[in-house]
Amino acid sequence: MMFVVPCYNEEEVLSVTASTLRRKLLALKESQSIGMTSGIIFVDDGSKDATWNIIERLHDEDPDTMHGVKLAHNKGHQNALYAGLMQALHIGADVSVSMDADLQDDPDAVDQMIEEYRNGAEIVFGVRDNRDTDTAFKRGTAHAFYAFMGWLGAETVPDHADYRLMSHVAMEALSQYGEVNLFLRGIVPSLGFRTAKVYYKRGARVAGESKYPLGKMVTFALEGVTSFSTKPLSLIVTVGVLSVIIGVVMLVYTLVSVFSGHAVAGWGSLMCSLWFIGGFILMAVGIVGEYIGKIYLEVKARPRYFVEKSF
Ligand code: UDP
Ligand code: MG
Repeated sequence: MMFVVPCYNEEEVLSVTASTLRRKLLALKESQSIGMTSGIIFVDDGSKDATWNIIERLHDEDPDTMHGVKLAHNKGHQNALYAGLMQALHIGADVSVSMDADLQDDPDAVDQMIEEYRNGAEIVFGVRDNRDTDTAFKRGTAHAFYAFMGWLGAETVPDHADYRLMSHVAMEALSQYGEVNLFLRGIVPSLGFRTAKVYYKRGARVAGESKYPLGKMVTFALEGVTSFSTKPLSLIVTVGVLSVIIGVVMLVYTLVSVFSGHAVAGWGSLMCSLWFIGGFILMAVGIVGEYIGKIYLEVKARPRYFVEKSF
């Protein structure tokens, strides 16, 4: 088993995190829940502080357990996480457990995750059962986001961040996704396979401050929407059709006004062309959008399916 921990400017918490996870690993190894080669992969996401130095030091102290991957640039949480998962796959880990560097995700939930894995789940989602430690704003926007994603037809697991167990099979499947715009919280649930959920209490950050300011959060949400749904493009067609329907109503209204002598000269023709032309243009843009949506999905070249069993 490999812990995969993305780290961006985490010098303040990294040592604490490393010793907490090391203790967890020791306990799990003792109870023979995990293999003796289990360890931690820290991914330095182009940090500007001493994060990489700390990772190097951890590796020097305990080379069999502490592994590191250094990205040349800050590429964001999702890419860092993906890099770590691919490294876990590369070094032959049977299972990975991804978690944040700030210990907000309770490491003790891993016991139950492993149990679910032993019971046959290929993916186990860590789901927080409270959001008390979040601000009301973060809570509200998060729930609105899950609802919106659901409406757009993308599968996400509410209140699950990136604390999850993935088996070798699931990581292998994930490795077949070639897309650059990664939204793992959408991709992983769409892989299929047997999944399970483990509930845990999410605490406050142990030290340092959030690396997800509002701006990054909004970008992340937009990423989720645009990399999973082309529904916004289809909506343009709907709006166009509505516009044309309003155009028909306006046509009747305008004709009535003109023939009953209540209209200024020229107003009738203007009113009719306004709605009709607007509607037709929107429809045309929408139709182009439909094709662009198709091209977008093709360009991603996502795997069509994964075979779970065959005889
Ligand atoms: N992170 C990262 N790259 C970034 C931003 C964040 O690897 O560009 C990591 C960060 O080090 C942490 C995790 O992503 O391990 C989640 O970030 P954070 O805890 O700051 O987010 P929050 O819990 O406040 O949403
Ligand atoms: Mg955090």
